[in-house]
Amino acid sequence: MRDQLTLAACQTLLAQRQISAQELVRLFLSRIAHLEPHLHAFLDWDPDEALAQARAADRALAFGITHQQRPLLGIPIGIKDNIAVRGHPLRCASRILGDFVAPYDATVIERLRAAGAVLLGRLNMDEFAMGSSTENSAFGPTRNPWDLERTAGGSSGGSAAAVAAGECPAALGSDTGGSIRQPAAFCGCVGLKPTYGRVSRYGLVAFASSLDQIGPLTATVQDAALLLQVIAGHDPRDATSLPDPVPDYVAGLCPDLRGICLGLPREYFADGIHPEIAQALQRATEHLQSLGAEIREVSLPHTPWALATYYIIATAEASANLARFDGIRYGFRVDGDDPVQLYKRTRGQGFGPEVKRRIILGTFVLSSGYYDAYYLRAQKVRTLIRRDFLEAFRQVDALITPVTPSAAFRLGEKLADPLQMYLTDVFTLSCNLAGICGLSLPCGFTREPRLPIGLQLLGPPLGEAVLLRIAYAYEQTADWQRFYSPPPIVGQFLQKAGGASSGSEPTAPSIGP
Ligand code: GLN
Repeated sequence: MRDQLTLAACQTLLAQRQISAQELVRLFLSRIAHLEPHLHAFLDWDPDEALAQARAADRALAFGITHQQRPLLGIPIGIKDNIAVRGHPLRCASRILGDFVAPYDATVIERLRAAGAVLLGRLNMDEFAMGSSTENSAFGPTRNPWDLERTAGGSSGGSAAAVAAGECPAALGSDTGGSIRQPAAFCGCVGLKPTYGRVSRYGLVAFASSLDQIGPLTATVQDAALLLQVIAGHDPRDATSLPDPVPDYVAGLCPDLRGICLGLPREYFADGIHPEIAQALQRATEHLQSLGAEIREVSLPHTPWALATYYIIATAEASANLARFDGIRYGFRVDGDDPVQLYKRTRGQGFGPEVKRRIILGTFVLSSGYYDAYYLRAQKVRTLIRRDFLEAFRQVDALITPVTPSAAFRLGEKLADPLQMYLTDVFTLSCNLAGICGLSLPCGFTREPRLPIGLQLLGPPLGEAVLLRIAYAYEQTADWQRFYSPPPIVGQFLQKAGGASSGSEPTAPSIGP
């Protein structure tokens, strides 16, 4: 990603008038046009509207507005398809929403607009954010830019693939059990799931309301800090939004880790992790130690129950949240002779198989006679899981864990076996159950095939600044970064664009090594 136009690089280029906002948007649109037939990261994008927003940004820049005042002025951002953007389709990659158009902006979108961002388009995802590979999209899967036969992860696979391929400098995703961090790991970008309540959920289509959070997917840690800065903060329209002030995340970044204590949770390093991932994590841990961090082993004893707990709570909440898609009020409808037939036909044809599976499971665990045995017990275990973390954070500032047991898997590989698919989230979902924050960061590549490996940092409630600081220190100093080359498909495209005399991509000014 080192050749990439990061958010920070875009700010500099625009501020120094080396490029106009319109040129910048054209550059990304051209990449989208070339790469989308291979990747399918976007569900739709609107060049005219993006260029109109860029024109407005150019006027503001000419008027003397700075990036101190509007941090994202003229910078394109991609949006996951479950976040409402007024006047645009909002589908959650599902058929059931039909041609529904969002009547209002989500709070995060209002904040992006206020910061001057150009909204580039809507990104592919698993239907209603249920999945780990973006294969549950009703509009076809997204492919991983590092290997087109592999998944980009999910459910924010479109967001991760678009950022990794440089189709946009940054994107918003959502994370209920790992959906920002896992695709970030599979695609080699930075993904941050904020503390529950740090970012408003107003205008995010609910999957599991007590677990969902919106967060950034970016090429660098600094960009994650920048984007979080814009979207975080209290929102009276979200009753679960936290009132705490937002610290200056960018100012807190420094490459020195003296005084930081990091924990390795024993339960996260059991069998089942691919040896290359285990090795990469060990190297990263040693590197963090060399930067001054103290490393300690800790225990999160209730970890073995996290997966079952998550799939009870998430499905229970989903079954309630998705009851509103009934074909009556909006979206897709299949008529019937009576209302019940209408519901059955609409929901039968509108939802995909994974969403139906979750609704049935969620309805079951909430049904009378089973409620105490499943849902109530899961809530109790959730409390124990949160306590484990709070206890660990009395001893250490943050935890280091893998993001996934293996690197990106092949498209189709886990589709027939939902349990196998669920198991890919085993390291990410406790963070949502506990309501704490988590960050996924590239820490190297597997050898053959060459696929990105992710490292997860977990922090205490409102510990985003600490996570960003640790991640930044690692990113700025890790050795392997010097040998970084972009995903093959991006390399091919850049070569073609550079070689073609017609100049199919407007050339970006050099932004250094
Ligand atoms: N993969 C997990 C699931 O399918 C998490 C999804 C998410 O975080 N949105 O539930």
